[in-house]
This record gives sequence, C-alpha cells and structure tokens, in this order.
Amino acid sequence: MKNKKDKKITGAKVCIICRGEMKDSKNAVKIKDDQIITSIRKIKEKMNMATKNELYVCNQHKEEHMKRRKSFEKSILLTAILAFVIFVLLSIIPPITTGNINLSSILLGLLIGIMLLLLNGFIKYTPDVEVKK
Ligand SMILES: [Zn+2]
Repeated sequence: MKNKKDKKITGAKVCIICRGEMKDSKNAVKIKDDQIITSIRKIKEKMNMATKNELYVCNQHKEEHMKRRKSFEKSILLTAILAFVIFVLLSIIPPITTGNINLSSILLGLLIGIMLLLLNGFIKYTPDVEVKK
C-alpha cells in the first residue's frame, strides 16, 4: 500500500532526461559527479533543498543523453574558440589602429569571453556519465 505522507529519506534514482524515478537501474548509467554537480549539491544542502537523489540516465534515454552531451561539448568548444577570437581581436586591434595598447579593451575582451563561456555552459550543461566497463 502506498502512503502519500511517507516521505523518502534516502534518495531515489532519477533519470536526468525524463526526471522519472527508476525502479530498475540495472541498465541505467550513473552520472559522473563532476565539479559542477558537486557544487550544486553543496549549495542545495546549504539551502536545505537537497533531494539526495542519485542521478542516472535510464536505458531509454541513453542515446538522447549522448546526443546532448556531444552537442554540449561541441558548443563549449565553439564558444571557447569564439571567446578567444573576440579576446584576441580586442587586444590587437587598438595597438594596430592607434599604436597604443588599450588595457580596458583587453579586459573587455576577457570579460566577454568569460561571460560567453559561463552563459553557454549554464544553458547547455549536460553532465558526463561514468564509464561502465
Ligand atoms: Zn529517462
């Protein structure tokens, strides 16, 4: 019998794609605890919002997750290249056009680069899975 008032103390195994709770995690892959996940967990614990859920990708969503992870990696790489180009341009254009190194322009390039990376990282963030062998 199910009791709705029964709150779980131990974490459930949850698929990060469908947010569904898994009854059988035999074929699921576990999400790797990386720096970002560990930090989010710590923040949640401080705010008393910790769910203590274990993150997985269920069998049906493995492919979907792989696609998302690949697209995340690709977009981070592209953003990094773009950020670098912006930084370089803002650093070298003033010396070429004015003959003077413009520090605020260099800093602006750096700032735009970091912002781009952070923004893109947050929007598309997809954690990696533990390699099961
Ligand atoms: Zn799923």
